[in-house]
Amino acid sequence: MKLCRFEAENRIAYGLIEGGSVFEIDMDPFSGTPANDIKKGNQRKLEEVRLLSPVIPSKIVAIGLNYKAHAAEFNKPLPEEPMLFMKPSTAVIGTGDNIVYPTHMSHRVDYEGELGVVIGKAAKDIPADKAKDYILGYTCFNDVTARDLQGKDVQYTRAKGFDTFACVGPCIETDFDPLNARVETYLDGEKKQDTSTQDMIFNVYELVSFVSYVMTLLPGDIIATGTPSGVGKMRPGNIVEVKIEGIGTLKNTVTDGKVFRKIWTKA
Ligand code: MG
Repeated sequence: MKLCRFEAENRIAYGLIEGGSVFEIDMDPFSGTPANDIKKGNQRKLEEVRLLSPVIPSKIVAIGLNYKAHAAEFNKPLPEEPMLFMKPSTAVIGTGDNIVYPTHMSHRVDYEGELGVVIGKAAKDIPADKAKDYILGYTCFNDVTARDLQGKDVQYTRAKGFDTFACVGPCIETDFDPLNARVETYLDGEKKQDTSTQDMIFNVYELVSFVSYVMTLLPGDIIATGTPSGVGKMRPGNIVEVKIEGIGTLKNTVTDGKVFRKIWTKA
């Protein structure tokens, strides 16, 4: 099933997407209720609601260099264990929202289309063969990155942490095979990334396990599983889409941040 969160008539609710409709559900999909017990309520047309990020995570744990071809593209050796960094929950936006280009600090901002894993229940020290039990579902993720600052800062916090730099959506698909899925990214309609998750160095279950041995994963947390080859820059005005067969398309427009953002000055 496709779980979503939406706004309609000035109210925010969780829903199920079926065809061109959204059915409201009166429960929190992170409460542990088995998916089959979810009851469908009010029906609306999909175009009559505004889809929001399907979840507000307590944290986003992202993986660097998790596709073989992407490591080759950056001339990096294959990592021996997953390389982790974090993105703040305040960076989250949903499909249809704008990515605000931080022109006040960066001149090179890239898209990174990724498969996002959404955690369903608290996970600590979970072996890979049990990881599936802790996953609610999967979503499309764009790990927007200020590439110039990633190199300059060495630490990833600023490059990965600007507001609007974590695009999530359009829904959470609960019936999905993460071991053989195609992740595609389009910039203004032109295909830029297209790779199967079979090219991952560490698969989804290994990642959930590994992260859970570092920090407790909470319901709603997202693991961004790394981007395939073909990353590239975006400019204000571009439309970027991350498409994963079986989940849907996450679509965002890049806007110029100078309208919204103030220049930082040292006191
Ligand atoms: Mg990434």
